[in-house]
Amino acid sequence: MRNTNSLEMTNANDPSLKTWVQVPKGSDFPIQNLPFGIFKNKRLSPRAGVAIGDKIVDLAVLQEEGFLSALHLPDAIFLGESLNDFIELGRPVTKKVRERVSELLREDNEELRDHQSRGKVMVNRKEAEMLMPVKVGDYTDFYSSMEHATNVGSMFRDPANALLPNWKHLPVGYHGRASSIIPSGVNIHRPKGQYKTPDMDAPQFGPSRKMDMELEMGFITCKPTKLGDSITTAEAEEHIFGFVLFNDWSARDLQAWEYVPLGPFLGKNFASSMSPWIVTLDALEPFRVAGPKQDTPVLPYLAFKGNKSFDIKLEAYLKPEGGKDNLICQSNFKYMYWNIAQQLAHHTVNGCNINVGDLYASGTISGPTEDSFGSLLELSWNGTKPLKLADGTKRSFMEDGDTITLKGYCEKDGVKIGFGEVTATLLPAK
Ligand code: MN
Repeated sequence: MRNTNSLEMTNANDPSLKTWVQVPKGSDFPIQNLPFGIFKNKRLSPRAGVAIGDKIVDLAVLQEEGFLSALHLPDAIFLGESLNDFIELGRPVTKKVRERVSELLREDNEELRDHQSRGKVMVNRKEAEMLMPVKVGDYTDFYSSMEHATNVGSMFRDPANALLPNWKHLPVGYHGRASSIIPSGVNIHRPKGQYKTPDMDAPQFGPSRKMDMELEMGFITCKPTKLGDSITTAEAEEHIFGFVLFNDWSARDLQAWEYVPLGPFLGKNFASSMSPWIVTLDALEPFRVAGPKQDTPVLPYLAFKGNKSFDIKLEAYLKPEGGKDNLICQSNFKYMYWNIAQQLAHHTVNGCNINVGDLYASGTISGPTEDSFGSLLELSWNGTKPLKLADGTKRSFMEDGDTITLKGYCEKDGVKIGFGEVTATLLPAK
């Protein structure tokens, strides 16, 4: 019998925890993180893993070898191309799995450290290909950063009335396209479509001339609801497994011409990229903070108690073809006006059902300063203030061959909980 009693005694987020795995200094994946993802390599079929340092804990092998037997999980729950079945077990169960993995990786625990199957369980991250962590059935994109909504409203409509009258009364959102969500590392082609600038008499068709990124995060739901049911702000977090970084690619010229009266369509649905490691809500507990003060009273179903935001530092980099990364934006998840509990409560208040593996993106997360704007549209103020890159070239929007990389991390008490990265290169139009 393996001893699992210590689970009750120790906290997987304890900053003092140390592991027998060699974790490089500054790694996104210390023992306090333990994010979940789906990987494969030359030898192994797709399966679930947990990242630690430069390694992946192969959860399928860990289960086969009996290390998780006290948790009574369904057989082969970690084999397959998504985490959907696993996260559907619910947060109380997935939390226990993370705690058990934490326990097995602790410096002073010999169970796995000194076991003959250790070499089979621990896979090199460098040799693994990361896949989509979940099968996304539905994707919603919110518009929850006041700074972003104000900037876009100022540029596209009217600086004096940048926020529309509904904005501080409900978390504005739209239903996006799930089929074109892709994992980090998959490159995209410049989209084509219609655009019409004010000086044109008629729309033109061609490759987008205003290709942009959007610095976002997304949460993934793990507990379904039935049609007609609603989720309260107090219940919301039971439904949320964790977070990823999310780049919601946007063709601003297509968007500007098409979006009235029904909102985003081809300017958005050609691709969105997500990071492969889902950082659990459990791992983010130490980084809770209050969000911005909501100065307009909300209806009772949007009221909430406690700290529902998280201090997550966010960065965006642009790398020209053959060039170097340029840090173009530093923002923070905590700038979001509407929090995740309010987003999910609003999404379901009309009885809309949610499913396991659904993705809910934040919308572009811009901060109060010009270097914290989360899109090129805002950073270059719609092309009127081009960014200067280290190689001397300028950017208002993306050039073919540019690579955008988003990173994110929390840091406190000497512990860094990172999200890895989401990256992709813009290829020429097909
Ligand atoms: Mn977006």
